[in-house]
Amino acid sequence: MDCLFCKIVAGQIPSKKVYEDEHTLAFEDIDPKAPTHVLIVPKKHIRGLKEATDEEAEIIGRCHLTAAKIAHDRGIEDGYRTVLNVGPRAGQSVFHLHVHLLGGRDLRWPPG
Ligand code: 5GP
Ligand code: ZN
Repeated sequence: MDCLFCKIVAGQIPSKKVYEDEHTLAFEDIDPKAPTHVLIVPKKHIRGLKEATDEEAEIIGRCHLTAAKIAHDRGIEDGYRTVLNVGPRAGQSVFHLHVHLLGGRDLRWPPG
């Protein structure tokens, strides 16, 4: 399958790994929008949130808990954000579900 994040999971494209377990991989975003900008992906290919099924609820939750663990380890718990961009109008450009972890600076609300 021609999927960028599947290739990163498989090690065919290099990434700066932050965390890995059986089901998830976290790596530094190549174009960071904050001092911490990490992407957390399920190792299994899921196209995006709107394509996810009930069976994938647990892995999506795990991705968020992985983000919380990284935020804790980096000492940014005074304010961070987990974001899923869903669909092209929201800026989704890679169609393998990923949670953005953004933190390390003040974050405005609402996001643009
Ligand atoms: P989206 O726009 O789909 O929500 O997020 C995709 C993210 O993937 C973007 O923040 C973009 O910077 C990041 N990205 C795109 N290509 C690569 C890559 O080859 N390596 C890494 N580490 N991040 C990438
Ligand atoms: Zn994929």
